Amino acid sequence: MNLEKSKKVYKEGIKYIPGGVNSPVRAFKSVCTDPVFISKGYGSKIEDEDGNTYIDYICSWGPAILGHSNQELMEGIEDIIKDGLSFGLPTKVEVDMAKLMVESYPAIDMVRMVNSGTEATMSAIRVARGYTNKNKIVKFEGCYHGHSDSLLVKSGSGTITYGVPTSLGVPEEIVKNTLVCRYNDIKDLKETFEKHGSDIAGVIIEPVAGNMGLVPADKKFLEELRKITKEYNSLLIFDEVITGFRIDYGGASEVYGIKPDMACFGKIIGGGFPVGAYGGKKEIMEMVSPLGGVYQAGTLSGNPLAMHMGYKNLKILQRNKTVYKDMEEMAITLEKGIAENIKNIGIKATIVRFKNMLTLFFGEGPFRNYDDVQKCDTNVYAKYFKEMLNRGIMLPPAQFECMFLSAAHTKEDLEYTIKANYESLKAIK
Ligand code: PLP
Repeated sequence: MNLEKSKKVYKEGIKYIPGGVNSPVRAFKSVCTDPVFISKGYGSKIEDEDGNTYIDYICSWGPAILGHSNQELMEGIEDIIKDGLSFGLPTKVEVDMAKLMVESYPAIDMVRMVNSGTEATMSAIRVARGYTNKNKIVKFEGCYHGHSDSLLVKSGSGTITYGVPTSLGVPEEIVKNTLVCRYNDIKDLKETFEKHGSDIAGVIIEPVAGNMGLVPADKKFLEELRKITKEYNSLLIFDEVITGFRIDYGGASEVYGIKPDMACFGKIIGGGFPVGAYGGKKEIMEMVSPLGGVYQAGTLSGNPLAMHMGYKNLKILQRNKTVYKDMEEMAITLEKGIAENIKNIGIKATIVRFKNMLTLFFGEGPFRNYDDVQKCDTNVYAKYFKEMLNRGIMLPPAQFECMFLSAAHTKEDLEYTIKANYESLKAIK
C-alpha cells in the first residue's frame, strides 16, 4: 500500500503538533506504524491522502452513525452557513435541539449544550457537587470521561493505550476527591459507599464501557448502582457520550431501563461538529447559572451550525425505525464471522459485541473490567491492525477502543471484512 503522501504530511506535522496529531490515539503509536491522514469520507468508506480507501470502523469514534457525507444530512448546509456562523446570542435552533433531546431521553427535563464530551462530564460533576453540597465523586477503572482533571484518574481510551491512566499535571488535592471502583463489581461499590457514602456527590459511569475495549455493564450491577446512589442521596450520572443515540435512540438508559439523575452526551448529537451536552432532572439543572449558583458558560456553546447538524442527525435516526435493528444485525453478522474465524484458525482471541459496537480482544475472556482487558496482547493487536489496514480495513488503532458500525455499512463490506479478518488472523498466528 502506498502511503507516501500520508508520511510526508506526518513528517511535517510532527514539527508543529505534539505527535503530529490533535488527539493521541490518532498517532497510531500503539500499533507501531505511522498515522494515515484522511482526505475524505463517503458512506462506510474513508480515503487517505494517497487515494487508498478503507472500510471505516472508527466512524469518527461514533459521530458518523449515518456514515460519511450522508446526503440528507449534508443537504442545505450552505443555506445554514449563509445566514452567519455564530452570534453569541441565543438562536431558535438551540431550543429546538434541547426540546428534541429532552423528548428523546426521558431521564432529563433540561439540557445545556457545551462543545465537547469533556466539557459535558466536567460540568455535570460540578452540578452534582453544587446540588448535593458534597465533594467526592466515584468513577470506574477503565472508563474514560474526557480529560478534565478530576476524571483523568485510572482512565480508559488513549490513557490506557499510552500507559498514563492517571495524568501528570493533575494535582493530588484534586485526585483525592475522586474515588475509583472496579467496573461490574457490586461488592467494591458497596464498600466504597459504606466508607464514604455521606461525602459522595455523584457516581459517573459509562453504562457500556467503550474505552477499555468494549465492556458492557451487567444489568444487575447498574441496578445496584441506581439503588445505592438513591440510598445515599448521590447523583447517578450516565456518561452517554458514546452510547447516547447509538446503542438505541434512547441510549443505555432505554436499553437497560434505568433512569439516571443526570446524563452526558456528545459525538452523535453534533452530526460531526464539536458538541457536548449535559442534562438532568429539573431541580438539578436549575442549579446551573443564571438560575442557580453553579457557573458554566461557553462562547461557541449551542453554535447554530452544530445545532442544525446535530438536530438533523437525531431527526433522521428518530424517523428511521429500523436503523438500530439493522445496525445490530450487521454487528451480529460480523461477530459470528469473526468468532468462526477465531475457532477455525485456533488463535487466542475473543470477539465481544453489544448492539452495534464490537471489540476483538487478543486474549481469552471474560472481559468484565479493567484488569481483565489488561491481560490482552497488545503486540498481537498491532500486527492484526496492520494486516487489516493493508487489506483496506480501518480499525481503531489501539486494543482498548471499540469498532463502530454505521447505517451506511453494507453486506458487501461485512463479507469483505470477515474475509480480511480470516486472512489477517492466519497471517499473524
Ligand atoms: N465520555 C466518553 C464515554 C467518551 O468516549 C469521550 C470521548 O471519547 C468523552 C467522554 C470525551 O468526549 P470529547 O472527546 O468530545 O471531549
